[in-house]
Amino acid sequence: MTPPGIDLEISRAWLVDPSAGREGPGEIVVRGGILEAVTWLAGAEAKGIGPDGVVIAPGFIDLHVHFREPGNEDAETVATGLAAAAHGGFTTVCAMPNTDPAMDEPGVLGRIRAAADASGSPVELLAHGAVTVGRAGEQLAALGELADAGVVGFSDDGAPVRTATIMRAALAYAGALGLPIIDHAEDAGLTAGAEANDGFVATVLGLRGWPAAAEELAVARDLALLADVVRDEPGARLHLTHLSTAGALDLVRRAKAAGLPVTCDVTPHHLALTDEWVAGARRWAWEASGDPWSDGAIVAGPYATSLRVNPPLRTPEDAAACLAALIDGTADAVATDHAPHTVVDKAVEFGTAANGISGVETALSLLLAAVDAGRLPLARAIEGLTTGPARVLGARSRRAGSIGLVEGGRADLVVFDRSERWTVTADGLASRGKNTPLLGMALSGKILITVASGRIAYEAETD
Ligand SMILES: [Zn+2]
Repeated sequence: MTPPGIDLEISRAWLVDPSAGREGPGEIVVRGGILEAVTWLAGAEAKGIGPDGVVIAPGFIDLHVHFREPGNEDAETVATGLAAAAHGGFTTVCAMPNTDPAMDEPGVLGRIRAAADASGSPVELLAHGAVTVGRAGEQLAALGELADAGVVGFSDDGAPVRTATIMRAALAYAGALGLPIIDHAEDAGLTAGAEANDGFVATVLGLRGWPAAAEELAVARDLALLADVVRDEPGARLHLTHLSTAGALDLVRRAKAAGLPVTCDVTPHHLALTDEWVAGARRWAWEASGDPWSDGAIVAGPYATSLRVNPPLRTPEDAAACLAALIDGTADAVATDHAPHTVVDKAVEFGTAANGISGVETALSLLLAAVDAGRLPLARAIEGLTTGPARVLGARSRRAGSIGLVEGGRADLVVFDRSERWTVTADGLASRGKNTPLLGMALSGKILITVASGRIAYEAETD
């Protein structure tokens, strides 16, 4: 039985419907969970409604979240992860398989689905299965069984698929099943012991460098394998996740131009933040110079472990390349790589802290910072969170074919206010992972309501 849906009317808002390629003043009516009416306003009725106030968009899709259940429920559970997603405006999320045990067989998938059902959240939980048994990189997991059980892709994320031999077999096998490989591109030989992006900031701070080449070599390897495999298995597809360097994005740009079936995503933190933050600067990527000391931009202490992430925060040029890739379509999607951790796992030296940022609740606001600065069109930000990731997912979401403000379907949407700032606090985050460098910052784009499958997933308290 489908639970009863909500009634909701919002008048005089800015609608963004990327599936129709349309934005403008309008209003919506939801009855019994069904999006009954979408009305676009014009003329005198539209007067005074702009894109800087209340915005209504389709519910967001995140291709890449880490919910820590099973295995590390102190950091996140499926229930808290889904609550965090709803608070961030997401109504569909794809969980990564680096749980403990790893999601390398259907039993683990069954467990997280049961946890999602028990949570009562209407947010859609999808999952990527592991590429290799135990994500150990040695033996292919039971990809066919995982596909039958409903995974939406395969990934050893958290680590790369180590050998080209295994990656080649995985691309072919997953391709035959009609599923993409979600690739964490890292040449582990170049990143052993690495701490922060290899460059000026790491040198001044005395942190061991994490070279851009580690990502670019892995991207080049896997694009070469894809080009090889796709000749025999036309269903083969490669999705590169959390790309962070200008060079890696250029490789994808050229591969797409050559017609290879490759897609990729960038994260909000890689396009809005830079390695300057590790030094103690807190300015946006588009304001950064790469030398925060000579600019007098240091406002916080160095080595905050909330900034330790894989891949690392990069240079201002790399962040600008992430933003440019999102705008020109080289990057199909924005994915958060939401990676909650306990306080204990971060309360150590920078280089030994767990990698990751708890990011699903701040993703929209980081993108809106770029929009506010005139660096990113609002519609493109919304596409990166909706139709872009939907294309990567294909038919495997319950929302396939109905991403958009489409009359007659179950309502799946987010309402946020660009004119209202909200302050990121540990208590205010639904995630158990409080590991975000944005704590204490006032960001634009407060989420007011998230509706998933016709039900309220999140609603801001009114004061
Ligand atoms: Zn990763």
